Amino acid sequence: MEKRLKKDIKSYTKKELEAELLAAGDKAFRAGQIYSWLHQKLAGSFDEMTNLSKELRERLSDAYHIDSLRQVQVQESKLDGTKKYLFELHDGHMIESVLMKYHHGNSVCISSQVGCRMGCRFCASTIDGLERNLTPAELLDQIYQIQKLTGERVSHIVVMGSGEPMDNYENIIKFIHMVSDKDGLHISQRNITVSTCGLVPQIKRLAEEGLQITLALSLHAPNDEIRKALMPIANAYQMDEVLDACRYYFDQTGRRITFEYSLVRGVNDSEAAAEELAERILHMNCHVNLIPVNPIKERNYKESQNKEILNFQNKLEKYGINVTIRREMGRDIDGACGQLRRSYREKQREMEGEACGHME
Ligand code: SAH
Repeated sequence: MEKRLKKDIKSYTKKELEAELLAAGDKAFRAGQIYSWLHQKLAGSFDEMTNLSKELRERLSDAYHIDSLRQVQVQESKLDGTKKYLFELHDGHMIESVLMKYHHGNSVCISSQVGCRMGCRFCASTIDGLERNLTPAELLDQIYQIQKLTGERVSHIVVMGSGEPMDNYENIIKFIHMVSDKDGLHISQRNITVSTCGLVPQIKRLAEEGLQITLALSLHAPNDEIRKALMPIANAYQMDEVLDACRYYFDQTGRRITFEYSLVRGVNDSEAAAEELAERILHMNCHVNLIPVNPIKERNYKESQNKEILNFQNKLEKYGINVTIRREMGRDIDGACGQLRRSYREKQREMEGEACGHME
């Protein structure tokens, strides 16, 4: 409890940290030293900050805490080396982060919220709704802990784990600035992708932030009718509005949009669907990522068969649209968003049931 009364020092930008130190009567350059300890050397305690006086370290630890995630579980894919981490937050909530190894470097997929309130039908993260937003420190620490645990540098970030990043807007923007900062891990903004189910006002706002990140838009349908059947957010914003927001994002940033399209057997994978989609995105500067839906046990959606997937791809390509079928990483390790957290919690509940002498 006492820990929570202290301020969350890892969520401060360097400027904010400077202001804090000046207000406490310390020299501004101390902010640079502390920032480097937290965001480059990835220190987990004030005691490690050996170029600060003992007196300052004590004052810091009285006023602030360093928020760090605790690894609860890690699963490694035997197929491709993908590692899925389950981390515990200070208040006992669990989140998932995934490390994927590609030839171009190490990519980490981070969660943006605990749970999610968007309600996409095929997604495990949203079944129990939203618990809370992640802080900048918690967003950053998913990457810091994975670097510390593996001893390897992370070069790419995808905000495609549990949660809707545009529903945690301020913290995501702060996170992007801090993780790409030359005084932090200095990961290029061009190597950062943020995925959204399509919150139109936030997409427009993001377009005006002056960032160089890639926007991935979860489309999953060629029209409003099918989209509404899969994604409740489609009731709030029509596909036309979403596509216009994407055009605006490209116009403002010059960054090509990625459309995510999870293929669900018999729902959105017909040739007619591919044709309708192609016509709607024809002249956009975009790329389509096809992903066979990862079935979750709570719903009975099935992934499309290979023949349908290839037909869908061919149809889009005939229109000159760039398409990739996303390589499935970590299918053998509770691959889909939110599955590891759910299966861990279910096991915990079973064990609690047993411990209480639960008989049913
Ligand atoms: N909320 C954001 C980011 C998180 S989900 C968004 O909606 O984009 C990252 C991507 O995985 C989204 O495209 C999402 O629709 C997709 N996804 C979620 N569960 C899936 C599943 N079981 N199979 C395939 N794709 C899934």
